[in-house]
Amino acid sequence: MSCVIAGGGPAGAVLALLLARAGVEVTLLEKHADFLRDFRGDTIHPSTLQVLDELGLTEELLKLPHRKTYGFTLLTDDGRVQMADLHGLPGKYDYIAFVPQWDFLKIVTSAAERYPTFRLLMNAEAYGLIREGDTCKGLRYRDASGEHEIRAALTVAADGRGSVLRAAAGLVPQELGAPMDVLWFRLPREESDLDEPFLRVSAGNIMVGINRVTYWQLAYVIHKGGHDRLVQEGIGTFRETVARLLPFLEDRVGQIAGYDDLSTLTVALNRLRRWHRPGFLAIGDAAHAMSPVFGVGINLAVQDAVATANLLAGRLRAGGPVPEQDLHRLERRRLLPTRVTQAAQRLAQDRLIGPALDSTGRAPGIPVRMIGSPLVRPLIRRFLGLGVRPEHVRTPVH
Ligand SMILES: Cc1cc2nc3c(=O)[nH]c(=O)nc-3n(C[C@H](O)[C@H](O)[C@H](O)COP(=O)(O)OP(=O)(O)OC[C@H]3O[C@@H](n4cnc5c(N)ncnc54)[C@H](O)[C@@H]3O)c2cc1C
Repeated sequence: MSCVIAGGGPAGAVLALLLARAGVEVTLLEKHADFLRDFRGDTIHPSTLQVLDELGLTEELLKLPHRKTYGFTLLTDDGRVQMADLHGLPGKYDYIAFVPQWDFLKIVTSAAERYPTFRLLMNAEAYGLIREGDTCKGLRYRDASGEHEIRAALTVAADGRGSVLRAAAGLVPQELGAPMDVLWFRLPREESDLDEPFLRVSAGNIMVGINRVTYWQLAYVIHKGGHDRLVQEGIGTFRETVARLLPFLEDRVGQIAGYDDLSTLTVALNRLRRWHRPGFLAIGDAAHAMSPVFGVGINLAVQDAVATANLLAGRLRAGGPVPEQDLHRLERRRLLPTRVTQAAQRLAQDRLIGPALDSTGRAPGIPVRMIGSPLVRPLIRRFLGLGVRPEHVRTPVH
């Protein structure tokens, strides 16, 4: 086996497809039985749409029920601000497609299945590395039938922010700080509701809403560790808060039966100092956990995958091994976009989210005004739509 990838999220699935398409023998392991999980984020940004276009998959993706958004609405106590208008973005796509991530992953893995060198193992949980001296020679995993190993020239950890393979490789991320966690829940949506996804900011409260046609996927942002306080206050208080922040949902908040209807998602922002060991590479959230701020983590994970395939597919097709300097080149290439994106996320956390969660008076006005300024908006548009150093598919089809 040339390459084994742990984790069927955006990073792992896209890398597996690109490698299989380039004729590399690749196995992708996903610990769950399916891709159906709510917390993953639904945003396919223009640069990811471009990658899918280069792979001939956009048409299939856009046939699925999806929403196109050209911007986000910021709802404040004083009214609405249009944030990040993507109209006019260079390139073929000037909108974000909201597609449930399980559909996106299904399309990517189904496309990979067309290539004979691809193998997908669901319900397969990687738990350790095979090592010979300093070099990683593959991984160990368990499934319903027991424990197994797969030997490979390159083992890729794409197993997300809680990566067990990263830990097995002795790599520890540097924490950059995320002051918040997120409560995720749903309420029915009505035709007369607003259409665009929104960010609602008010003193002490932040909410995000994603239009999933028949329902709202809602995220209520809390201080890290603030879940217990919320539970003490009681579900009635939470319903009142939602109704106050989003009056159009007042008639539906009664449907939040209790805290069991809310999932708490831990937010992390961190980055590895070193993304590789001999025979081993971490990409996506396993190398750099992204905060949900700006909804760009999926994008970055996909861009990591494209860069990895561009740099390594040739060696892997020849059966490996992959010299460490190639792994280091990949890390160097992806470090700049990761650093810049995480710096922007930290800025938003420190200047907008933190103050909004802490404030007791009116919501802070200056950052909101700044976001709406004609000087800042083009920068936000480019950053959100294309990210930093967008990657293009350079791997051949074999
Ligand atoms: C609350 C929240 C909301 C977010 N919303 C957005 C958003 O709207 N848009 C956006 O772009 N980003 C969003 N993000 C960030 C985004 O989720 C991540 O940056 C992105 O999913 C990273 O992709 P990945 O493939 O690296 O990892 P993941 O998406 O975490 O995928 C890892 C995969 O590995 C599997 N796995 C884990 N361990 C193992 C194992 N041991 N063996 C085998 N498989 C394993 C997991 O089941 C999973 O399928 C959000 C993050 C949070 C916390």
